[in-house]
Amino acid sequence: MKMILLGPPAAGKGTQSAFLSEYYNIPAISTGNIIRNNISEGTELGTKAKGYIDEGKLVPDELIIDLVLNRLKEDDCKNGYILDGFPRTVAQAEALKDNNVNIDKVVEIVAQDEEIVKRISGRRNCKDCGAIYNTHDMPSKAGDKCEKCGGELLQRADDTEETVRKRLAVYHQETQPVSDYYAAMGNLVTIISQDKVEDTTAAMWKALGVN
Ligand code: ADP
Repeated sequence: MKMILLGPPAAGKGTQSAFLSEYYNIPAISTGNIIRNNISEGTELGTKAKGYIDEGKLVPDELIIDLVLNRLKEDDCKNGYILDGFPRTVAQAEALKDNNVNIDKVVEIVAQDEEIVKRISGRRNCKDCGAIYNTHDMPSKAGDKCEKCGGELLQRADDTEETVRKRLAVYHQETQPVSDYYAAMGNLVTIISQDKVEDTTAAMWKALGVN
């Protein structure tokens, strides 16, 4: 199963991709996480990408496309994968097609801009395992530590209202055409991000025909 998760920031792509990864037993590949790891490790890619990510802009296609294509050649991808945060431009979608990557399903999770701006202020990520929480509606049972691994919970540098508004503008301009691209290919399902995570999850399983 080769899947793509599309949607604006904080629509729940990361959370739902973890459920999909568990159910299908395939890796969830988050380009945002890969880039952030490269930044914290100070790699060449990280150094090049940092300015873009901090400003809420997309990292240029030429930095991300080969990175993803190479990642998909790794052993753990042989039975499929979930792409979370890629493709984000039509050029990235075309790069998959040109490299004979045939996507089975694209799940788009949509949410209103104002809802996203509200959510982003509460979003927290575990520094160690990447688990995602929200102080408003999905707090960690371990307070300011991760309930899974005890790691410290941090707010992403790009999760400020100002940056998220820029990321939303980029999403509408660059990434929404990717939904149209897959809709035209006939393998897009769209679900609406709900206030409660479990309701979004239920809508996703229903759209995928999984009981
Ligand atoms: P979110 O979906 O919440 O915006 P991500 O972690 O997916 O967060 O992405 C964070 C940032 O990483 C983006 O704003 C962008 O700068 C960069 N990024 C991630 N994936 C891509 C991609 N496919 N193409 C270009 N930039 C990307």
